[in-house]
Amino acid sequence: MTARILDGTKIRDEIFAELKEEVASLVAEGVRPGLAAVLVGENPASQLYVKSKIAACEQLGLASWLHTPPASVTTEWMLQLVSDLNNNDNVDGILIQLPLPPQVDSKRVLEAVSPAKDVDGFHPVSMGMLVSNRPGLVACTPAGCMEILRRNGIVIEGANAVVLGRSDIVGKPMALLLLHANATVTACHSKSRDLPGIIGRADILVAAIGRAGFVQADWIKPGAAVIDVGTNKVTDAAEAKRLLANFPGRLEKFAAKGNVLVGDVHPDAVNSAGALTPVPGGVGPMTITMLMSNTVKAAKLRRGVGLASKDKSQPAATAR
Ligand code: NAP
Repeated sequence: MTARILDGTKIRDEIFAELKEEVASLVAEGVRPGLAAVLVGENPASQLYVKSKIAACEQLGLASWLHTPPASVTTEWMLQLVSDLNNNDNVDGILIQLPLPPQVDSKRVLEAVSPAKDVDGFHPVSMGMLVSNRPGLVACTPAGCMEILRRNGIVIEGANAVVLGRSDIVGKPMALLLLHANATVTACHSKSRDLPGIIGRADILVAAIGRAGFVQADWIKPGAAVIDVGTNKVTDAAEAKRLLANFPGRLEKFAAKGNVLVGDVHPDAVNSAGALTPVPGGVGPMTITMLMSNTVKAAKLRRGVGLASKDKSQPAATAR
């Protein structure tokens, strides 16, 4: 069996097209949703991430602001900036690019962000809203995984879903989203026993542990839908050879570049799963997509515009 490839880039394009229309109609109502990004210091990877987030805002017609305090910034200064952004009525979403320098109390800064503008979905209030299945802002990566499942017509209700990893930003919210979508969910972590046995019963597997090629192809139930969140940069030639023995084209690229991105699922799973997200090009593009979607959602919830009637009144199991 060769798995159906669940193409995140294609879904990003679909959602972007929908958001562009939505933003245009909000602008026509006099509301331009806006995202304020805070990038501390000069970490090249963070600069690249923030640049692509701002570019996405521009592509969709959202307003954006970039604040770039120096690496020597203090916690107090950051708290004042967050407070100013919380009080700025034009700002719908606040994004604090992580990591912050060691002298800054990251937890205090993140928790100072108004939950109404918490487009990363990391605030304890946002987590609480998710636990109680109320409309709110959900962490972008797991929200993106749900879009991949839904837009590919993968049946979630009644499915056995296994989530590998229990971080606050991926595994835990992912397990809750699947539970609210009526899957029977097993959440696994580093102390779980018999992972091959548990994974072997999964109709849907979400792997988010940060271990290259950890999930072996023969652990996967034939035909299962596999969402591979892992993005692991492999630089060791022997490891690359072990993981990509059946992918000579990718090995050639590794030889030329000296590194390759591999997910948490062994690439050979393409021959046992029924559907699979590629790495790269699967979950990766969905994270920025859902950040944009959250910014529009935050604008609508906070300003009370452009909401479908169900969003205004009651929890919607499918609206997250
Ligand atoms: P994290 O905070 O390091 O959490 C890893 C989780 O995996 C923990 O719950 C840990 O268990 C569990 N784990 C580690 N080794 C395990 C093992 N051998 N067996 C079972 N469980 C194990 O990681 P994260 O932030 O959730 O990220 C996970 C992966 O997703 C990383 O590769 C990251 O780069 C990737 N990621 C990708 C995107 C994207 O946009 N594509 C976004 C976010 C993250 P314990 O709790 O017991 O320690």
